[in-house]
Amino acid sequence: VTSVSAPRDIDVVGAGILGLWQALTLARAGHRVRLIEASPEPFSHAQSRFAGAMLAPWCEAEAAEPIVRDAGIVMLDTWKATCPGIVEAGTLVVAQARDVGELRRFARLAPGHAEVEAARIDALEPDLAGRFRTGLFYEREAHMRTPAALAALLDAVRAAGAEVRLGETWAKAGKADFTIDCRGLAARAELPTLRGVRGERLLVRARDVALGRPVRLLHPRFPLYVVPWGEGLHLIGATVIESDDPSPMTVRSALELLGMAYALSPGFGEAEIVELSAGVRPAFPDNVPRVVARGRIIHVNGAHRHGFLLAPALARIVADLVAHGRCDWTLASGLMMSEQPA
Ligand SMILES: Cc1cc2nc3c(=O)[nH]c(=O)nc-3n(C[C@H](O)[C@H](O)[C@H](O)COP(=O)(O)OP(=O)(O)OC[C@H]3O[C@@H](n4cnc5c(N)ncnc54)[C@H](O)[C@@H]3O)c2cc1C
Repeated sequence: VTSVSAPRDIDVVGAGILGLWQALTLARAGHRVRLIEASPEPFSHAQSRFAGAMLAPWCEAEAAEPIVRDAGIVMLDTWKATCPGIVEAGTLVVAQARDVGELRRFARLAPGHAEVEAARIDALEPDLAGRFRTGLFYEREAHMRTPAALAALLDAVRAAGAEVRLGETWAKAGKADFTIDCRGLAARAELPTLRGVRGERLLVRARDVALGRPVRLLHPRFPLYVVPWGEGLHLIGATVIESDDPSPMTVRSALELLGMAYALSPGFGEAEIVELSAGVRPAFPDNVPRVVARGRIIHVNGAHRHGFLLAPALARIVADLVAHGRCDWTLASGLMMSEQPA
């Protein structure tokens, strides 16, 4: 990010993953930043706390626009340089023998992998030994333990000199030179094409399985990912439902996710269920996160499944807009929306 000659007063509203990266990047660029968050407890109202938090630009290409992969690949290094807890162990994608067509389809849509046979799968994930004959390994992908990453970013925001105001509900732009609106779904009145995409996930503590990296089990109807958080904790997710209903996980979804986890490894049968939860992803129609610049108010929203991956990219764009009134990064145009009807 270009350093600035003229420090500005900037309000960043919302301390989810997008607001944290905005506040951090702008404070490090020398601006006077206030991060304003409605919840008194950090992250208690943020959809970000539910995320799998995988940095998986190649795998996400299966269903996302090319800009998500291209900008996401660039952001891997930014994350590694910023957040100490990033685990660089890649992603393993497998399918049961009857779903091998799914694996071929995924390989075609999401290049950037090595094809791996049983011996390599067993070496990568000893607790899956003997269960899968073929898979895809995306070596450069990374992941993190979501709560720890959010807490580390908040610490970094404070260390960079930003003022963090918790328990303060922002209502309208005040005297600040710029207001960066990162309220997620709460900004729907200003961003009418924003919609909610419900996601449910579980946290389990397993004694008999310890994965070394995120593992995706493909299935035509119930695709699954499992992200290891260490100490036996595994995040099992996630449903993708066109709904902005935030109510608790349904029995159907729990059965589907747990059934698939058990199919991945029967070792999950003895795991303790630590948490079942549901969140709602803010998304624009094409599911690409975007910066929407309207003079002194800049909206950053639509994170969908890519909030963690692309938050630093959106922050880089905003920092350039604040400093120069434009962003010359070649990938920026794909992550900006020129205007929406108010
Ligand atoms: C099950 C599930 C799995 C997911 N997995 C992934 C994943 O693996 N990778 C990924 O990148 N994304 C994932 N996501 C999506 C991701 O969690 C969201 O897209 C992202 O967290 C949205 O971030 P945000 O910062 O825009 O919003 P939020 O995290 O919701 O933050 C918005 C904040 O603004 C605050 N706020 C709202 N109104 C006001 C106001 N008036 N004044 C002050 N503060 C206000 C809220 O309290 C909140 O803290 C997943 C989501 C779900 C539900």
